[in-house]
Amino acid sequence: MKRNHFIKTLLSIPLTAASMKLNELNKMTESLSSTERMPVLFLGHGSPMNAIEENEFVKSFRSLGQTITKPNAILCVSAHWETRGTFVTAMEKPKTIHDFGGFPQELFDVQYPAPGSPDLAREIKSLIKKTEVGLDDKWGLDHGAWSVVKHMYPNADVPVIQLSLDYTQTPQHHYELAKELKSLRKKGVLVIGSGNMVHNLGLVAWDRLNQQYAFDWATEANEKMKKHIISGDHQKLINFRSEGKAFDLAIPTAEHYLPLIYILAMQEESEKVSLFNDKAVAGSLTMTSVKIG
Ligand code: ZN
Repeated sequence: MKRNHFIKTLLSIPLTAASMKLNELNKMTESLSSTERMPVLFLGHGSPMNAIEENEFVKSFRSLGQTITKPNAILCVSAHWETRGTFVTAMEKPKTIHDFGGFPQELFDVQYPAPGSPDLAREIKSLIKKTEVGLDDKWGLDHGAWSVVKHMYPNADVPVIQLSLDYTQTPQHHYELAKELKSLRKKGVLVIGSGNMVHNLGLVAWDRLNQQYAFDWATEANEKMKKHIISGDHQKLINFRSEGKAFDLAIPTAEHYLPLIYILAMQEESEKVSLFNDKAVAGSLTMTSVKIG
């Protein structure tokens, strides 16, 4: 129901409206905004080569871009931007950062010239009360952001900004911080966490690099994570260091996992969750991705 229609409907039934309790009205307003709420995404980005290769993972990213409402802007929390303190990119024209080595020239030639949004950066700075957010003019778009967003919006016509991961903070801090960004969903901002749920480069099966293959511990961790995501048990996912050996192997360092915590924090109560790209590659990585809403 459009807002005007909703107001007209209320005006046409003044007696009912007058007798309606305030909390019932609030409920109606809430369901009204829920129709306008953008989804939030966690995208498993895997190898930087996914930026230029054609495979089932990038097909999913592409079809997501075609099926969800085109956003006014994208806020990406990428595994590849870790800082001391929290920063948001605030430049007009973020540069494409090729933050990797040992890949073909073709990958270094990729440019993703999406504009930035200094206005949105400032809005995010004012939305986040629990910590000081710095406006950054040096970063740009790292491959955690552009390697996935380029499949969703190949014309680079949606502004993209990034929020950094403060490596000095606890998972609980990241979860609480992300909660403060919830209202952006109703302003046409698509929030994307880009990482990998299971990500242990030290244990990659180099002989099975391009194969869909998982070590037992990777399967175990991925299955448990999915179970907690589906049942909404965020606290177990926040306290991942208490979840046992499989989690310790899956998350040797937290940067690829934390973007998941950000998007879970933006879930409304009883909101629908769907999983896709739920495959493992090279033994120690999972591409499992999450759509909320
Ligand atoms: Zn990565």
